[in-house]
Amino acid sequence: MRQPLIAGNWKMNGTKASAKSLISGVVVGVTDLSKAEVLVCPPFPFLSLAESLLAGGRVQLGAQNLCTEAVGAYTGEVSADMLAEFGCRYVICGHSERRQYYGETDSLIGKKLLASCRGGLRPILCVGESLDQREQGQTESVLAAQIEGVIAETGVDLFEQVEIAYEPVWAIGTGRTATPEQAQAAHAFIRGRIGERSPSIAATIRILYGGSMKAANARDLLSQPDIDGGLIGGASLVVDDFVAICQAGDLLAG
Ligand code: PEP
Repeated sequence: MRQPLIAGNWKMNGTKASAKSLISGVVVGVTDLSKAEVLVCPPFPFLSLAESLLAGGRVQLGAQNLCTEAVGAYTGEVSADMLAEFGCRYVICGHSERRQYYGETDSLIGKKLLASCRGGLRPILCVGESLDQREQGQTESVLAAQIEGVIAETGVDLFEQVEIAYEPVWAIGTGRTATPEQAQAAHAFIRGRIGERSPSIAATIRILYGGSMKAANARDLLSQPDIDGGLIGGASLVVDDFVAICQAGDLLAG
């Protein structure tokens, strides 16, 4: 049984005050949950505040990006060791916004996975097709190329320490969600692809769904056999919505 992981990706949102109230609300809201793992990924400047508010609790802390390098003259960058020192256990890698706006390639993302694991963080590798690619029937070839491109850099064994998030680009922040059947098909494809390299990793790796997951659709998505959690953008900024998704994950964990 794979433990569900419900992760909030705040992106570049919030103030010190709103971060404090959001984290405090989530901490209280998930107190009674016991099965799902809950994670919040605030922007870098709020990590220290989040670390202190989350200390000793069940909500984990993660970051949204990191540098491929460990230390040195890389202006504006943040290393895995720095994130770990501020209590991070996870880091999102290769989000479609970073691929689209910052030109991140599969090779660079593979290097970020290696840097994460070297620093003791678990990377959440994001993959997903654009609307155009889906409409051209290229979903599986795009997913395969993204996964193979990363594995070429890391090897498959590293995936023991990795989570994958399937995030169809057309569903991110659009309010348009993949149907449970579409998402399940993509997740099963991803698991199968990993399984061609390592059946044991395929059986244990968690594959999260991301793309307009909300309280109203979380249950249907999370009940699919190959969906092991969610990476939540917009709804992770609203305490009640995020907590409701965490509750759905907890219930479905049985
Ligand atoms: C995301 O950006 O990771 C995401 C899933 O966003 P949203 O939930 O807002 O679609």
